[in-house]
Amino acid sequence: MNVIRFSDLCAQGKARGQRVFIRADMNVPQDESGRITEDTRIRASVPAIRMALDAGAAVMVTSHLGRPKEGEFKPEDSLAPVARRLGELLASAVPLVSNWVDGVTVQPGQLVLLENCRLNQGEKKNDEALARKMAALCDIYVNDAFGTAHRAEGTTYGIAQYAPIACAGPLLAAEIDAITKALANPKRPLAAIVAGSKVSTKLTILESLAEKVDRLIVGGGIANTFMLAAGLPIGQSLAEPDLAGAARSVMEKMRARGAQVPIPGDVVTAKRFAADAPAATKPAEAVEGDDLILDIGPQTAQGLAAQLREAGTIVWNGPVGVFEWDAFAHGTETIARAIAQSSAFSIAGGGDTLAAIAKYGIEKDVGYISTGGGAFLEVLEGKTLPALEILARRAAQ
Ligand code: ADP
Ligand code: MG
Repeated sequence: MNVIRFSDLCAQGKARGQRVFIRADMNVPQDESGRITEDTRIRASVPAIRMALDAGAAVMVTSHLGRPKEGEFKPEDSLAPVARRLGELLASAVPLVSNWVDGVTVQPGQLVLLENCRLNQGEKKNDEALARKMAALCDIYVNDAFGTAHRAEGTTYGIAQYAPIACAGPLLAAEIDAITKALANPKRPLAAIVAGSKVSTKLTILESLAEKVDRLIVGGGIANTFMLAAGLPIGQSLAEPDLAGAARSVMEKMRARGAQVPIPGDVVTAKRFAADAPAATKPAEAVEGDDLILDIGPQTAQGLAAQLREAGTIVWNGPVGVFEWDAFAHGTETIARAIAQSSAFSIAGGGDTLAAIAKYGIEKDVGYISTGGGAFLEVLEGKTLPALEILARRAAQ
């Protein structure tokens, strides 16, 4: 997709003295006292901000945080903790500006953080009047918020329609480049792992991936649905029986292309969904009526790991078992280590997938880790993200 890149504008000196409005995604998890528990998204937003400051721009940056009610400010919705953390990372205090829609004062070389953009009335519905006011604040609009690129809101879409220049920030550009590399022209074999618990949303992804990938590795609730479709017993396991037909059509689509969806041959089960439930490893045919399948078995995991080590490209979304509990973590750990060892270009996304990557410490061995959960899944599904669509349209004007 052809979009204007902020890095190019900066390199050409076009940002000097300009008012630059950056939409970042600094929606970080916080504990009850508001303390930031995980700051990846703030750190990932720093390069765009630095780029703008180094280019001599007057810089405004905003983000959403949580899901506040529009027009009703509550202290817990404030970006104040984000401003503090950003200030630490930049080694310079970052002023936080509220009620900013009608005007912002900021000088070239300076940075201000604009309070939670989801507090503005009309943000969610992409109200035109709000979008036009925000666009009037800047000369250059930079979208660097991949995590929200699947939503057409005021700061992700409307402002891009009306700003004099609308472009992609370095994080957004890196996400597009990595996903294009993985899916548009991949080194083969291309293997995709789609697992986890969101069965119905992810089955639509499988339908689109079935046309592209050489190996579709399923795990978690998705594997259970495929096992059901293959006529295997799954007891009380998480699955979507209504979608067994859809699973069967994915398998047929793959088979017709000479590709495969390996069905687990062995599994790890428990009688209760609990961390301390005793685990049993058994062949898939031996699953009992009151069993819960909570992980793929060791033989299945070994077989999949061997396939991953031979892959040219790997796309990973979703843990293949309840990896949060050690008795059911072996499958996910084996997959994670195989990805780390593989020479394939690998790309991973999804909240829990990132938690698994962190748990096994393989961050450095994954080719690209996406910051987007929902947005990453929609790209895999073959959808065009609204935020990218408008940037491409503006680039073509
Ligand atoms: P992501 O956030 O990476 O997109 P999901 O949210 O779809 O992934 O799924 C992650 C969750 O799925 C994890 O919390 C994991 O415990 C759970 N899970 C994995 N396998 C199973 C299973 N067989 N049964 C129930 N839950 C599972
Ligand atoms: Mg999740």
